[in-house]
Amino acid sequence: MAASADTIFSRIIRREIPARIEYEDDLCLAFHDVAPQSPVHLLVIPKQPIPSLVDVTEADEPLLGHLVAVASSLARKLGLDDGYRLVVNCGRDGGQTVHHLHVHLLGGRSLGWPPG
Ligand code: AMP
Repeated sequence: MAASADTIFSRIIRREIPARIEYEDDLCLAFHDVAPQSPVHLLVIPKQPIPSLVDVTEADEPLLGHLVAVASSLARKLGLDDGYRLVVNCGRDGGQTVHHLHVHLLGGRSLGWPPG
């Protein structure tokens, strides 16, 4: 946990650096990615700084479910009626660059598969 206490995302949660925040509650924050890969590209992050999926325990299951439910609700709110994709990158091979668990919500265009 301590390892991720000072990621850029913790600094966004603490309002030390700016972000376009779309949603917040007691458990999570959702904001627009600074380098969007699609017309809608949000990051949904837990306020609790879990570094990655590798660190998730059974106790985190309700929190992870909440992140997905918030992403689904935001997709509806933002009009992604033709579909969207949720992505959680994990570790080096997964392409994770910020070590504070986050769910990417990508939508607003047709997304290719498989990812690179
Ligand atoms: P990942 O590669 O899965 O770890 O995703 C990290 C994401 O965080 C990337 O899509 C970055 O563009 C995004 N990102 C990094 N810094 C910021 C920031 N200050 N505000 C918003 N998004 C950011």
